[in-house]
Amino acid sequence: MQYLSTRGAQLGQYRDVIVEGLAPDGGLAVPAELPTIDAALLERWRPLDYAGLATEILGLFATDIPRDELARICRTSYRPEAFASPEVVPVTSLDGGLSLVGLSEGPTLAFKDLAMRFLGEALDLVLTEADEVLNILGATSGDTGSAAEHALRGRDRLAVFMLSPKGRMSPFQRAQMYSLLEPNVHNIVVDGVFDDCQRLVKRISEDVEFKRAHRLGAVNSINFGRISAQIAYYVWAWLRATDAVPAADRDGFEVSFAVPSGNFGNILSGHYARSMGLPVRRLVLATNENNVLDDFFRTGHYRPRTAANTLTTSSPSMDVSRASNLERFVFDLLGSSPERTAAAWGELTVRGEIDLSAEQHRFLPELGFVSGTSTHADRLATIREVAERCGVTIDPHTADGVKVAREHVEEGVPMLVLETAKPQKFAETITEALGVAPAIDAETRTLLDAPQHVTEIPDDEQQLRDLIASSALR
Ligand SMILES: *Cc1c(COP(=O)(O)O)cnc(C)c1O
Repeated sequence: MQYLSTRGAQLGQYRDVIVEGLAPDGGLAVPAELPTIDAALLERWRPLDYAGLATEILGLFATDIPRDELARICRTSYRPEAFASPEVVPVTSLDGGLSLVGLSEGPTLAFKDLAMRFLGEALDLVLTEADEVLNILGATSGDTGSAAEHALRGRDRLAVFMLSPKGRMSPFQRAQMYSLLEPNVHNIVVDGVFDDCQRLVKRISEDVEFKRAHRLGAVNSINFGRISAQIAYYVWAWLRATDAVPAADRDGFEVSFAVPSGNFGNILSGHYARSMGLPVRRLVLATNENNVLDDFFRTGHYRPRTAANTLTTSSPSMDVSRASNLERFVFDLLGSSPERTAAAWGELTVRGEIDLSAEQHRFLPELGFVSGTSTHADRLATIREVAERCGVTIDPHTADGVKVAREHVEEGVPMLVLETAKPQKFAETITEALGVAPAIDAETRTLLDAPQHVTEIPDDEQQLRDLIASSALR
């Protein structure tokens, strides 16, 4: 499988794109051609466990990694002992046609573990074979950072430089990251919001010379390794949702997915799964008060907010105004044309928005996208209602998904809501909704009390460069 940039450059194969992160021309890696899946293949995959299914899906994209190696790293990434549920991704029904796809059973209690654990193993494999090292530079609004650091901690050939916005993450999220003391983990707290962190990372990553000199890579959701690994759970969830459907009716049996969204990484994998042939009716995009993407899907106008206009909400991992992965979707929307995609991003730079209203009629039904916004009040009401009706405590992000999912349920079409985090991560909001804090086990208590270590910097590119230059692996 060959990869190219949304702006046109040829990027090589899977190994190359997972190491490179952002393409040298500033675009994002996409497969030259999407593989396809059909009913016969899906039935063949039905008996597989999660690691087995992930091997099959990732094998379609990582064609340059030998199958036995891929199987080995999927077994390691998705061994049931590393997850709270033996199925790795349990699917449980709520009410009103909704089910919850349990993506947060991993060590950092968020869906990002699923893709990050695989990417950590895959990078290790590639770097070991090439006898190289890589310094991962990233920005986090909370869950990316902890998933990345937990997936990469203690590895010899990888270091992590993770930027996080000062004072914008929950105490649990901070503890998960800042308590890691491995020498290959560097927590850098920036005096700014998530978008400031992301901009610093983007600027440095666009400096090809600096990036090469210090062997920088990225595990942000722009890394295609993560996007490809996430496709596996859409297929897994479809299989589990259709296990009880009579065999004769499974071919083409449609389900919908609701996805709490920020950087557009998670739902992009759903878009790819659907484009590959998975029978998906709707992709329901849920945003919080930072509803740039809801606006986009309603109007075709993409107007990212400035950092100053990005609100701090009670679903902080979705406090994103510039959805970096949207470029891949727009590339598809514009007929896989690098010229048109580059022109659209040029327009964004000049005018601060992209007008794709001429394409908006294709969002539905062709591409299956609908969207909605959930507010703090919706979040609290939804957490309360799901706890009362179903006896399940959901986290604030998943609550945004449930709220918007309910607005798009169709008769006879299962609505699968992706659970993106566990409630323990966001105790304050759970307490506000339910009057009691989520149960905290001894392990969590120890984590919250552990000493923390960070390096603080202002929103300043030069200071970040100096820091990387002095501590990167070489
Ligand atoms: C990262 C994250 C999201 C947003 O996912 P994107 O891939 O950025 O759209 C939503 N909820 C939680 C809990 C997250 O950690």
